[in-house]
Amino acid sequence: MKKVIFISAGPGDPDLITIKAINHLKKSEVVLVDRLVSPEIVNKYLNPRRKIIYVGKYNDMHNKKEKKSFFTHTQKSINHLMVYHALKGRYVVRLKGGDVSIFSNIMDELMELKKYDISYEIIPGVTAAIGASAYTGIPLTARGYASSVRFVTLHNPNSIDKNQWNEFMETKDTLVFYMCVHKLYHIMDKLMMNKRNLYTDKLIAIVEQATTPMQKVYTSTLYNFKDMIKKEKKFLSPSLVIFGKIVNLYSYFKWNYRSNFLDKKNYFIY
Ligand code: SAH
Repeated sequence: MKKVIFISAGPGDPDLITIKAINHLKKSEVVLVDRLVSPEIVNKYLNPRRKIIYVGKYNDMHNKKEKKSFFTHTQKSINHLMVYHALKGRYVVRLKGGDVSIFSNIMDELMELKKYDISYEIIPGVTAAIGASAYTGIPLTARGYASSVRFVTLHNPNSIDKNQWNEFMETKDTLVFYMCVHKLYHIMDKLMMNKRNLYTDKLIAIVEQATTPMQKVYTSTLYNFKDMIKKEKKFLSPSLVIFGKIVNLYSYFKWNYRSNFLDKKNYFIY
């Protein structure tokens, strides 16, 4: 049967992938790998005879042969490759970072498959927010702090209107901002448009390279945040922001993820 399996690779730590995903990876014949997929997953779990196609910016390959196949693709060429191999009856896997259904263009790919009447399966996984929450010890909801959580893309902060920025400040929800690390200064300006917003009990946490041995966490009040951005080097990619009263629990518990990965060289720096 013509089919594509969408597999969630998790945010970095290769042990966060599911058993179901591993079973499919072992049987795979063609694997289209996105950027932000830990190479340990590729090294450890893929069928050695499979064809790997890197379809994203992928800077730190360990295997020279795989490095050669590095190429930056467009969504159109990814769709084309996926359909081409599936129509040939190959066992096609589409491997994406975090969870495949969160901010990953899966809709475009599913539409393409529908056009060609190719069936599919989706294997869920740990999205970056959930990984960052667990490996920083900042719960995303807790009694008296937040009863809801929202995942928000700030890829294009200019598309968000003034009312929405104010709502971000007023809500009691925990907000997790994805795809925003290069625009943090601008985002802070927007959040603090209204001066009374400065006196909030919400804190901000930036989690860099969550669930990898390189994970770093920076927390701040909104008020001090701009100074911190100035002082710090640029935050490394990928990073996300947790924003809300809940971030106060970080300094309260002072839980720190201690990497038990022995050899950092086996893990890539994004
Ligand atoms: N499908 C992915 C998200 C892809 S969008 C998921 O479910 O996690 C890419 C954004 O995800 C990055 O810009 C960053 O904000 C976030 N991200 C992915 N991996 C991350 C990691 N290990 N640490 C921190 N943020 C991460």
